[in-house]
Amino acid sequence: MMRRLITLALLWALPVGAEGVGLVTITFDDASRAQYEHGLRLAVAHDLVGTLFVPTSLVEAALPGDWTLTWDEVRAFHAAGWEIGAHGASHARLPDLPADQLPAEIDGSAAAIADRIGEAPVAFSSPFGAFSDATLDRIMETYQAHLSWKGHGGRNPRAALDPRLIGRLEVVNTMTPVEVCGEMVASARDETWLVLLFHGVTEGEPADYEVSAAMLDEIFACTAFLRDRGLIDVVTVREGLARIGGTP
Ligand SMILES: [Zn+2]
Repeated sequence: MMRRLITLALLWALPVGAEGVGLVTITFDDASRAQYEHGLRLAVAHDLVGTLFVPTSLVEAALPGDWTLTWDEVRAFHAAGWEIGAHGASHARLPDLPADQLPAEIDGSAAAIADRIGEAPVAFSSPFGAFSDATLDRIMETYQAHLSWKGHGGRNPRAALDPRLIGRLEVVNTMTPVEVCGEMVASARDETWLVLLFHGVTEGEPADYEVSAAMLDEIFACTAFLRDRGLIDVVTVREGLARIGGTP
């Protein structure tokens, strides 16, 4: 708690132009149980929404309690105001697949989300962050945005947004909550669209690709703090696209 107060006080002291309003988007890839048990719980606690990217065939096959969430659990995100985006069907590396398997991964996942959620997805996140010109072209026939892992350090310029390559900042356990908050403040200052990517969340010692639930709680506290003071707006990918380009 003390660390959180220090973090917030530091941020409050940072000079930010009164006109600056950043856009911040929280994204989770994979629809894992930890994202439900910690991610959704903490997001609801801080009144935050984001975008959950689901590998639809894995969700289809998931049983209650599995590592991958069931459709009922994915629908709980949607009921809490989250956007459901596509993360392929089988979580295959798209550039490694023969061309005739791409429709099942790209269009099949869109159809499954439309069927199971009741709203067609507009955003696609490539599994493993792996894509090629050919897979990107194919994705953009069905979706209005593609999210990668890297690019712009996750702070996308609003004036020159490329919906084919929306960059994300992957939050890993070698970062601190203060650093991530600093990125949000920077996004407010230069009025960019910061898109954060989270993978695993754990209550134990986080592995490389994970963050601790305590760290996620601090990051979400900072996100809500900046939003409540009018420095950032927290949006889903769909809402961010609408704010910038008027697309979906
Ligand atoms: Zn993934």
